[in-house]
Amino acid sequence: MASEQILLDDVHLALGRGASSVSILRGADLSVAQGTSIAIVGPSGSGKSTLLMVIAGLERPDRGRVVVAGRELTRLGEDALTAFRGTAIGIVFQSFHLIPTMTALENVAVPLELGGVADARQRAAAELERVGLADRATHYPTELSGGEQQRVAVARALAPQPKVLLADEPTGNLDATTGREIVDLVFRAQRERGQTVVLVTHDAALAARCDRMVRVADGRVHPVDLAREAAA
Ligand code: ADP
Ligand code: MG
Repeated sequence: MASEQILLDDVHLALGRGASSVSILRGADLSVAQGTSIAIVGPSGSGKSTLLMVIAGLERPDRGRVVVAGRELTRLGEDALTAFRGTAIGIVFQSFHLIPTMTALENVAVPLELGGVADARQRAAAELERVGLADRATHYPTELSGGEQQRVAVARALAPQPKVLLADEPTGNLDATTGREIVDLVFRAQRERGQTVVLVTHDAALAARCDRMVRVADGRVHPVDLAREAAA
């Protein structure tokens, strides 16, 4: 299907070596249409982050097929995969993952500079402004609140205009109000830039804001009926 932005077909993945190897994904299937949002829920340790890493091309499945933005990641070599990740995929993590020795502006500019964008700093400044942090550009992460750090992380993820935005419990370290503001930024990106959004979250209210919801359990991806979930 042409409008399909993410496709996982019978994905299997074990992590760890030898006797400590754990089979995490055991036949995971997932299909996400372009420009839509999907929530991934499931118990702790069920494999949600692993699934996100597979979509991001940061983990290679042992078996199965992964297609993102028209590229079959499972057929790309390391260099092609790295280049693809830089332009097509943005990721936001629970713990922000900012580079502590760089200012907010420099953090946002990094992926642009790596991508060879000529006016990286101007573009980074514009992205910071979009998330309401124009006046924090020269601040270092330790000088910013958690919510502000996550705003920087969102700006950094969005700066290269990725087709797919992945967020792994982006509100997990924030209070409810701040978390909602961060998620508003994520949904605004979907609305205004047509990005496809995959959101891993424990927060049921947050998950309900997505177009669709799936649950990871037993190494597979199961559909969730949003209407039934809301009534429960
Ligand atoms: P979730 O995000 O749903 O909490 P994860 O995807 O982080 O789950 O992890 C799924 C399972 O894989 C967990 O049991 C975790 O301990 C295990 N796991 C994650 N990374 C590794 C690794 N590098 N080696 C072995 N096991 C791992
Ligand atoms: Mg996780």
